[in-house]
Amino acid sequence: MNPNPPTETDANAAPAKPAAPSNFIRDIILEDLKTNKYNGRVQTRFPPEPNGYLHIGHAKAICLDFGLADEFHGHTNLRFDDTNPEKEETEYVDSIMEDVKWLGFHWDGLFYASDYFDQLHEWAVQLIKAGKAYVDDLSADQIREYRGTLTKPGKDSPYRNRSVEENLDLFERMRKGEFPDGTRTLRAKIDMASPNLNMRDPVMYRIIHAEHHRTGNKWCIYPMYDYAHGQSDSIERVTHSMCTLEFEDHRPLYNWFIQQLGIFPSQQIEFDRLNLTYTLLSKRKLLRLVQEGHVRGWDDPRMPTLSGIRRRGYTPEAIRNFVGSIGVSKTSGIIELAMLEHFVREDLNKRAPRAMAVLRPLKLVIDNYPENQVEQMEAVNNPEDASAGTRKVPFSRVLYIEQDDFREDPPKGYFRLSPGREVRLRYAYFVKCTNVVKNSKGEVVEVHCTYDPETRGGNTPPDGRKVKSTIHWVSAPHAIDAEVRLYDTLFTKEDPNQTEEGQDFTANLNPNSLEIVKDAKIEPSLATPPIGKRFQFERLGYFCVDPESTAGRPVFNRTVALKDTWAKVEKRQKS
Ligand code: ATP
Ligand code: MG
Repeated sequence: MNPNPPTETDANAAPAKPAAPSNFIRDIILEDLKTNKYNGRVQTRFPPEPNGYLHIGHAKAICLDFGLADEFHGHTNLRFDDTNPEKEETEYVDSIMEDVKWLGFHWDGLFYASDYFDQLHEWAVQLIKAGKAYVDDLSADQIREYRGTLTKPGKDSPYRNRSVEENLDLFERMRKGEFPDGTRTLRAKIDMASPNLNMRDPVMYRIIHAEHHRTGNKWCIYPMYDYAHGQSDSIERVTHSMCTLEFEDHRPLYNWFIQQLGIFPSQQIEFDRLNLTYTLLSKRKLLRLVQEGHVRGWDDPRMPTLSGIRRRGYTPEAIRNFVGSIGVSKTSGIIELAMLEHFVREDLNKRAPRAMAVLRPLKLVIDNYPENQVEQMEAVNNPEDASAGTRKVPFSRVLYIEQDDFREDPPKGYFRLSPGREVRLRYAYFVKCTNVVKNSKGEVVEVHCTYDPETRGGNTPPDGRKVKSTIHWVSAPHAIDAEVRLYDTLFTKEDPNQTEEGQDFTANLNPNSLEIVKDAKIEPSLATPPIGKRFQFERLGYFCVDPESTAGRPVFNRTVALKDTWAKVEKRQKS
């Protein structure tokens, strides 16, 4: 069960690296193998609820579920935990399958908890017959009230001691649809005084008259997560069922159902959920961002969803390496977003072809360069990968450079172009600024310079003269217009949930999370790049071709910026 070769441009993708050297889950598996607890079998599952798109937190769970099974030649099922018909949709099911494949994994079995509704119902009847479950008429509010608190024991429901016959009859009538939503539940009969609230007669079934995305109108009673999950694991003979820490207190209940039913003893193991700075990882909140129009959709490149970061240009390899490096533990913490970005840069540096693009063009005219002459300069496609070869980039008398790469009054420490200053044009020539042309507002609209023919290719001239800066450029008559979308974090606070009273996380949305550059100029080799292709625009960062690109007008998303050393220097100088 090696990871699939990723579906798109990453033909040379390596299989997932094993996760960090060791972790406590691997140790449990090793121990179980040693004691032959499951006859040498390792079987896991990834159990998303199809109520939204997967996010980077799910990637951690996916890498663990698939990665660990893979390591021990085990099996992994993809199982949709579709027990709540009101929130689940086929669109989500489809996107989840696409995302798991994109991450580089494939599942052995594809299942739905709804496949097990008949079996779960049969087992519920079995528990009723054994006096271990009863139909309750209390409302949801009353059940909560009767449950008690951590310091106060619960109270028995007045319906707790119904006879088996009455329970069987009422449960059957619940199933047939005789009662409206919320009027009755089936509850496990455990212990209303248990110190663990989850063991105080948890609800197993509730009445919901709603159409299910797979079972249609067959059912109007639906199992609760806690009743469905462990039994689904057991049906699939899952050996190691990994989930996040908030389910730790549910483990006694997970085990209780399995023991009462005498079925295959799957084992639940909890690990810490991934939290990232400046990022929300909750499908419910991400859904709000989509529904309220704060982002352009689930796959908006600012979203932490796998479809969002894929569109942004993150690679599956980068995500797998990141997840491998953060490890797993029994206590929750927060990971810096910068660390994820580091893994993205590291991976793209190795594989992204380089190109030149100018985001905020300023005209540079080389007065001593022959009019109408065009030279094809040889540019290296990837200094990290000799096999990527070179390409020709046209050079002419009028170029575009970045506005940022010219200062009429250069501050101290600024070594790029300014009057009288000489710089290298990448892969081309040394140029020296002679004068500028300004508009009526006094803004520089054209920079004039002369070039030194002896520096062709950007090489040091015979006199050994050096320059302190190399800047990128695009030939004006050959340039292609492009739209470039620059992203900042979606939230301004490290913890987007930290708000003033009466506010919610939307108060922390970053109004500048998206900047659209409409008139960027890019080199002609990028006129019609394939969607999803990633580049490094020299000195600017990594960029990925957006699906909204059209013929002759490509649209690029900035995946991640290169580390901007100048911005840091300037910041230090100001502070
Ligand atoms: P959300 O709060 O975003 O809705 P969830 O836990 O309800 O997440 P599920 O679809 O139930 O989402 O999750 C499927 C699996 O992914 C579960 O095993 C869950 O524990 C795991 N998972 C979800 N979020 C994270 C996270 N941030 N880090 C690690 N694992 C996660
Ligand atoms: Mg959930």
